[in-house]
Amino acid sequence: MDMMFFCIPQQAYMRTDNCTNLRKRPAGKAPAGAQPMLRACEKCTMYPLVDKNKVPTVTLDAYLGGSKPKVANLQASANRKIMQMNIA
Ligand code: SF4
Repeated sequence: MDMMFFCIPQQAYMRTDNCTNLRKRPAGKAPAGAQPMLRACEKCTMYPLVDKNKVPTVTLDAYLGGSKPKVANLQASANRKIMQMNIA
């Protein structure tokens, strides 16, 4: 199911699977024809929360109906632990 979350680095509402796909792009200089990873994604520390379904979401249908997902709390200790596991 299409789920929407608020991407803090880009300050934009996005689909969770779009976040995953953006992370699969090559970082730095992309081969001809390929799109490089966005700078925001390169430096992003939030994506482990998206991958682990720890970000607040609403369905795409609800979003199109006017609902907005809450902004994740990156300072919450449980969230910080998940983000740090990925950096370490
Ligand atoms: S990787 Fe980070 S910056 Fe890129 S879309 Fe996902 S949450 Fe946003």
